[in-house]
Amino acid sequence: MKILVTGGAGYIGSHTCVELLNAGYDVVVVDNLYNASVKSLDRVQQITGKSLTFYNADITDAEAMNAVFEKEQDVACVIHFAGLKAVGESVAKPLEYYRNNITGTLVLCEAMRSHGVKNIIFSSSATVYGDPAFVPITEQCPKGTPTNPYGWTKHMIEQMLTDLHTADKDWNVILLRYFNPIGAHKSGLIGEDPKGIPNNLLPYVAQVAIGKLPCLGIFGDDYDTPDGTGVRDYIHVVDLALGHVAAINRIKENPGVKVYNLGTGKGYSVLDVVKAFGKACGREVPYRIMPRRPGDIATYYSDATLAKEELGWEAQYGIEEMCEDSWRWQSSNPDGYETK
Ligand code: NAD
Ligand code: UDP
Repeated sequence: MKILVTGGAGYIGSHTCVELLNAGYDVVVVDNLYNASVKSLDRVQQITGKSLTFYNADITDAEAMNAVFEKEQDVACVIHFAGLKAVGESVAKPLEYYRNNITGTLVLCEAMRSHGVKNIIFSSSATVYGDPAFVPITEQCPKGTPTNPYGWTKHMIEQMLTDLHTADKDWNVILLRYFNPIGAHKSGLIGEDPKGIPNNLLPYVAQVAIGKLPCLGIFGDDYDTPDGTGVRDYIHVVDLALGHVAAINRIKENPGVKVYNLGTGKGYSVLDVVKAFGKACGREVPYRIMPRRPGDIATYYSDATLAKEELGWEAQYGIEEMCEDSWRWQSSNPDGYETK
């Protein structure tokens, strides 16, 4: 069975390609390499001993997308990762974000419809819950008001795909709301490779640990949490990848529109993560307490029951393995895919 993966050369996409190939699927990747290296796909093939098909194409390019579907006649399902994802940058460049993420998804869906492909699994985010009405966050939690264009694109794309199913019941849509993906494949061959100074906690900690950055700033220690620092639901990227394989099994049952949280159901504080990472890398990670980051919420973690019940999927890895695997990737590839 053939699966088309947009954004398959990126962080989550590459890990998902590994698990799809391991599960016996044929994999076709479409990525414009805007935020990825083609080396990630070489490594995916090295890890699995299997080959995949790669198109260097932009999902906003209708001609290119139609050409891909012409060539790849029997795509059973699309997993749609391609998108821009930096929250801060989206505030500065709203048009770029709306164009890439919204127009990209529209063009992709039009090409899918023209070629009779009507199964899509979309990378959404827990950010759609905004300041959540309750924690742990179930899928019943109402969507909140996004605080940035990135969040709005996720919010809008969820609506667009839902409307598509309303208009044509042949469409099956699975919206996967990710919590905080971290970690890397056990092989140390693929992992997160952010450009510039990382915004997210884990890549920042990893770069402090390897000596590329001097010190972690912890954004606030006066939240109403056990140690005062922010609490999040970190999920190992391999568990997340396996969640997509489970979603493919579900979409084969023609479920209509389904929403699943992909998280562990457990919250860890920034200090918990710093401690676990220190243990993984064998040295203390220097940090200092800074003011709160605007827009941050104290506590954010999932109730992961629905995915367990309906997808038969549950996260397996804990924070120790997430940090160990992240460190293995960072220490063996200090400059990411550019490492000589
Ligand atoms: P990533 O940047 O590593 O991967 C996205 C991939 O999409 C990149 O390889 C990029 O080159 C490609 N891409 C972007 N625009 C494209 C276009 N127009 N045409 C073709 N390819 C394009 O990011 P990631 O962390 O792997 O995230 C994957 C998806 O998951 C994104 O949609 C992201 O918003 C979503 N998500 C990520 C997180 C997270 O913390 N990493 C959390 C929630 C949701
Ligand atoms: N954080 C931090 N320092 C950093 C980056 C993040 O203290 O350099 C904190 C942030 O305030 C939040 C948690 O780490 O409590 C996770 O932040 P991240 O940006 O990774 O993900 P978010 O949950 O905000 O999407």
